[in-house]
Amino acid sequence: MPSADAKSPPPPRASKMHDIPVHTLHQLLAPITVRRENPKATFTNWGLSYTCRPLSVFVPETEHQCRLILELARREGKTVRTAGVGHSPSDLACTTEYMLRTEKLNKVIELNAEKRFVVAQAGIVLNDLHAVLAQHGLAMRNLGSISDQTLGGVVTTATHGTGLDFPVISSDVRALVILLADGSRVRCSRDERPELFMASLCGLGATGIILEVTLELEPAFLLKEVQENQRFDVVVGNLDSIARQAEHVRLWWFPQADVVRVSSSNRTNEPKSPVGTWLWHSIVGYHLLQFLLFVARYVPILNIWLGRFMAWLAGGKMVSVDDSHRIFNIDCKYPQYTTEWAVPYDRAQACLRDVRDWLEREFADPSGLRPHASFEIRFSAADDIWLSPSNGQLSCWIGVVQFKPYGLNVPYRELFARFEQIMIKYGGKPHWAKSHPLGPAELRRLYPRFDDFVRVLEAVDPQGIFRNPYVQRHIFGKEGAEFGPRVFKKLP
Ligand SMILES: Cc1cc2nc3c(=O)[nH]c(=O)nc-3n(C[C@H](O)[C@H](O)[C@H](O)COP(=O)(O)OP(=O)(O)OC[C@H]3O[C@@H](n4cnc5c(N)ncnc54)[C@H](O)[C@@H]3O)c2cc1C
Repeated sequence: MPSADAKSPPPPRASKMHDIPVHTLHQLLAPITVRRENPKATFTNWGLSYTCRPLSVFVPETEHQCRLILELARREGKTVRTAGVGHSPSDLACTTEYMLRTEKLNKVIELNAEKRFVVAQAGIVLNDLHAVLAQHGLAMRNLGSISDQTLGGVVTTATHGTGLDFPVISSDVRALVILLADGSRVRCSRDERPELFMASLCGLGATGIILEVTLELEPAFLLKEVQENQRFDVVVGNLDSIARQAEHVRLWWFPQADVVRVSSSNRTNEPKSPVGTWLWHSIVGYHLLQFLLFVARYVPILNIWLGRFMAWLAGGKMVSVDDSHRIFNIDCKYPQYTTEWAVPYDRAQACLRDVRDWLEREFADPSGLRPHASFEIRFSAADDIWLSPSNGQLSCWIGVVQFKPYGLNVPYRELFARFEQIMIKYGGKPHWAKSHPLGPAELRRLYPRFDDFVRVLEAVDPQGIFRNPYVQRHIFGKEGAEFGPRVFKKLP
């Protein structure tokens, strides 16, 4: 197993860093620098909805290089945005100044099968982590829909999976090693610098560069998933019993067809029996659907039929048994716009009925909205992470997606704006990685520890080195052209 920083020279002490002239810092960083003039410096998120061209992109392989980047930024009065692999469907990772990409800080440092934990560099992609864990009979307890993100990206956004007994993935973190704005390397946990720890678990990349994550694991397990279609009224009328019928329950609602696909997964000892044929999923489920989505850009009424087609494509009852991450993860298909909110669980039923009533009005109105969107509904346990949307509340996550066939734009803004108004009415909190309209005034009301979060940022990063436009806008309430929500919007 490769160890982190195996070949790097011992890092100079902070005082030595101050002595290095700026031009020497540039020289030292040259091998890992991609400058703005180089097209490779352009950073576009996976959803093809946001893009930016940083002044320089650095791809460090060692902690020492990370310190040099911070030293350079301090001297030049620049900000540094740490970025994973750009899977956030917003401008959360975007910047016009310095960007530090973590893709080469991706090693497993320590793995303890007996005590069931791993220490990994934050740039490791979850799929790579799963492969290492599997060799030692271990697995992550819960996952979201994909494993293409970095561990750091997952931790700083409180990425969630589903299950009423399963909190957001950051809850499985036992300790973090962070490089702070002044170049100091600190370790934090619930016992050591607990405030920095609670702020960093969903810290939006604003507390520092997360170098290492200690993650609690469980023995590798198989999941048995059962999927079947039910009517909306049946599902929402029995929401609590359905949400509790398995360890991990998630729902895909196709309002155009009045159908909810219910997925229920439990740990099992049954033999593996994965489902899915290449022909069906590749030819019909991917290529034909994409073409139809493309046609519907010009003939919006087709979207209603497309929603019904997607519900039909999902098929009848399906049972499969596979490695946990293969069941947790799904094919998210095409680039997309998306928004997602965590609504207090006890208000979810009323909230979902409100969304249904609104969509029925749209569909009945000849000039109403015609989304092809399906809605995803998931659950998470309460936690105590300061900015986790599940902080102090059992949550029902409600998300909506509009696909971009062949990467092309489709209408989504009016749809999302109306959807968000309903989420706000029911006390919903937006997913931090996804675009949302809330500023500090609203967020402060939703998050009892919001001001503590700001206090920690001001203490560990008084100059705001780690604050990009997203953080300035949503956390510090900065207004103006350079902080606006559409600064990094990807235009056609
Ligand atoms: C197809 C798809 C499916 C998804 N499914 C789910 C899901 O099921 N559940 C869910 O909750 N979310 C989901 N997400 C959202 C995703 O988990 C988050 O956006 C995650 O942050 C992406 O990780 P990344 O490595 O791409 O980070 P980026 O998008 O590159 O960065 C995200 C944030 O992490 C910070 N960051 C990254 N690395 C570090 C580091 N080492 N130190 C400090 N800060 C760092 C960045 O500064 C930024 O603030 C999904 C996204 C996509 C595109």
